[in-house]
Amino acid sequence: METLLLNAKNTADIETAANILKNGGLCAIPTETVYGLAANAFNAKACSNIFKAKGRPGDNPLIVHICDMDMLCDIVAEVPEKAKLLAEKFWPGPLTIIMKKSEKIPDVVSANLSTVAVRFPAHPAARKIIEAAKLPLAAPSANLSGSPSPTSFEHCVHDLAGRVEGIIDGGICEVGVESTIISFAGEKPVLLRPGYVTLEQLREAIGEVEVSHAVLEKLEEGEKVLSPGMKYKHYAPKAQVTLIKASSKDYIKFVNEHAAKGVFALCFDEEAEKLCVSTVCYGSEFSDEQQAEHIFEALRKIDESKAEKVYAHSPKITGVGLAVYNRLIRAAGFDVIEL
Ligand code: AMP
Ligand code: MG
Repeated sequence: METLLLNAKNTADIETAANILKNGGLCAIPTETVYGLAANAFNAKACSNIFKAKGRPGDNPLIVHICDMDMLCDIVAEVPEKAKLLAEKFWPGPLTIIMKKSEKIPDVVSANLSTVAVRFPAHPAARKIIEAAKLPLAAPSANLSGSPSPTSFEHCVHDLAGRVEGIIDGGICEVGVESTIISFAGEKPVLLRPGYVTLEQLREAIGEVEVSHAVLEKLEEGEKVLSPGMKYKHYAPKAQVTLIKASSKDYIKFVNEHAAKGVFALCFDEEAEKLCVSTVCYGSEFSDEQQAEHIFEALRKIDESKAEKVYAHSPKITGVGLAVYNRLIRAAGFDVIEL
């Protein structure tokens, strides 16, 4: 298939992207978190093509993107009070809310669950495309299943050229990790995936929020999960990654003691010059927001390098750091050394 390469700066290209979507096609679009691979959320055939293009397992549901609150009533059966509070506070923005789904949402979107994930993105291009299409858009991350989420146009072209009708360039994604996901499927709100909207902010807004144990821990074989995405070994680089929990000083000492051919350090900016192995940096030790912005780009760089063994310095697990840690521990296949 020929893939149209578009640019969000051109109004005509926004229209073209919207037309692709209205006609049942797929288009990768920028959002503030990561690029999404979008289709008309009401079109089951189009949404099933998302799974084909990405090689995504059919039991991993999609997030539906809206551009105003009126769109919600066609998507969800009801909006719980606390979900309303969160929407008022964090939408438009990088928060996905899971609620009971309406009949209009095809089963392929929700992977046969009775709930649907909804997000109102803040990115101007994403909003313009949804407005122009006049449709809610189902959109998971626009990467091939199993590779890091795409945070640039180039990443999308690398993964999806020839597999989708269009890819629209909206520059670099500022947040860099996928949205925070909170579920209202059960009695208590549960954090299913940490992101830029932090657990601390959610608790401040609505009080008690449980944390799904899949956020920090490995799932047992065959364990039933609230968020199917959590059970897949996402973001796994070709090299073997070990996450090192240590102070900067101890991390540097450990890595230098283990220096060998093919050994890489996935480290903070401040550490690179003190390490005697090849390094890929993912932001300053002192900015969890910077770490989130750069982590997927860094993982792609590792894949393009000659790395065989990677020692990644663990971020802190507070604030946005929890989101970075959640992605890195999966990249490491839960292999952690605590010094
Ligand atoms: P992606 O945008 O590629 O990160 O994929 C969407 C994420 O949202 C996956 O991790 C899904 O498991 C999660 N998700 C989507 N819909 C639901 C739902 N109804 N219940 C729980 N998790 C969901
Ligand atoms: Mg994804």
